[in-house]
Amino acid sequence: VNARNDEEASAKAAAANVDSGAPTIFDKIIAKEIPSTIVYEDEKVLAFRDINPQAPVHVLVIPKFRDGLTQLGKAEARHEEILGHLLYASKIVAEKEGILDGFRVVINSGPTACQSVYHLHLHVLGGRQMKWPPG
Ligand code: 5GP
Repeated sequence: VNARNDEEASAKAAAANVDSGAPTIFDKIIAKEIPSTIVYEDEKVLAFRDINPQAPVHVLVIPKFRDGLTQLGKAEARHEEILGHLLYASKIVAEKEGILDGFRVVINSGPTACQSVYHLHLHVLGGRQMKWPPG
């Protein structure tokens, strides 16, 4: 029952959190105005540990230049290259973290999927047995 209440509460919070296009906390992380534990970085993407990890390894991979990409559901043809780059960076993260034998990459797009930060991000999860289907 508690798990269900938690899920309902987080779904409600996510639904209240609209995609306004405004700057997010991730801009501050990119600018290094607020600290994060960086796992991988190149000129286009930043990968850092999630503040509320859902697995022993939980890393977020984000584009440094959001360019309108607040959520996957807003992707346009011009984003193809960065989308591919983010996915490949996720593999590099999995390799660095020693979870190449099994890991999961998740993108929550929009309130119904419980997206809470409107700056596209890939979750790289691993280090434990994952279950299917996710909630
Ligand atoms: P979403 O729910 O939008 O798919 O994922 C957002 C993720 O960002 C959540 O897993 C949340 O824990 C993480 N997060 C939110 N704020 C911060 C922060 O300030 N620092 C870090 N490292 N992660 C954050």
